[in-house]
Amino acid sequence: MNFLITGGAGFIGTALANQLVQAGHGVRALDDLSAGDSRGLDPRVVFARGDARDVPKLWGLLRDVDCVYHLAARVSVPESVLYPVEYNAVNVGGAVALMTAMRDAGVRRVILASSGAAYGEQTRQPVSENAVMHPVTPYAVSKLAAEYYMHAIGALAGIETVALRIFNAYGPQQQLPPAHAPVIPRFLQAALNGSSLVIFGDGNQARDFVYIDDIARALCLAATARNVNRACVNIGSGAATTMNQLVDEIETLLATRVHRLYNDEGGAGVSRLVADISLASKLLDWSPRVALRQGLAQILKLDPRFQARSAQSHAATH
Ligand code: NAD
Repeated sequence: MNFLITGGAGFIGTALANQLVQAGHGVRALDDLSAGDSRGLDPRVVFARGDARDVPKLWGLLRDVDCVYHLAARVSVPESVLYPVEYNAVNVGGAVALMTAMRDAGVRRVILASSGAAYGEQTRQPVSENAVMHPVTPYAVSKLAAEYYMHAIGALAGIETVALRIFNAYGPQQQLPPAHAPVIPRFLQAALNGSSLVIFGDGNQARDFVYIDDIARALCLAATARNVNRACVNIGSGAATTMNQLVDEIETLLATRVHRLYNDEGGAGVSRLVADISLASKLLDWSPRVALRQGLAQILKLDPRFQARSAQSHAATH
């Protein structure tokens, strides 16, 4: 099959593109490199630099494409609170532009990387896809709005649409921006540097961490699955991990103790967000294979930013 991946030079896009070309598919990746880095892409991936809202550019890239993955987005929840106009423009505008270009080009299916964040605070856990949505940040609203636009335009234009609501992704090569870095690489970096590890709130907020290879596999399966049109499907591990438990895991893995600094000035987010993954099993025949401990070990093994230091840390403690 031939695929276009928007946001294809990002963390998830790179893993997906590489997995698809390794399986023998043709892959084009479009990315404006505002956050991504095309150097991680397999040389067989055809890379194009550009904005996912550029409809004429999309027309060219969509030629002979069977299925599109829409991953291009601004992805930081705290940043979205500061810049909601930007988040709306990229995350919602990008989805709408892509759908109109796909309508013109006659592409059959699109898969959106949506987010578990769209659920917001939910009393019933694990959260299933039919929960009433309570998005509470501009990022969460933008992902939900993108889902609605995609399903609506898809239904009108005869395009199959699937939204995968990904929970907390992690794995080797996850971006580590200086502000608002995702929690796992931020904690690993602090633990390996011997600096204090900052935990927002009391550390009892629970999240669902899902490993990058499992996410890429779910995305691959969504391209050919039957009976998924208009579906929203959770992609998570199904397991709850509190921030305190995550630090415990990192301490065990590195055989070291870290200094925990609790910061009560907000930023902890919802108290609990764990995926019910039964629909993914039913519709995609997918279930996660990599448990958190294994996934963390894979990062230390495969991510050059952590490899040398984790070896040193082990040598110092044994
Ligand atoms: P990422 O920032 O690594 O990837 C996003 C990519 O989109 C980047 O390479 C960036 O340069 C690109 N991009 C941004 N604006 C663009 C534009 N206007 N035109 C073209 N490219 C643009 O983030 P990621 O973690 O790989 O996330 C990929 C997708 O998955 C996003 O849509 C995100 O909302 C979704 N998602 C991620 C997670 C997670 O935990 N990482 C969870 C749920 C959903």
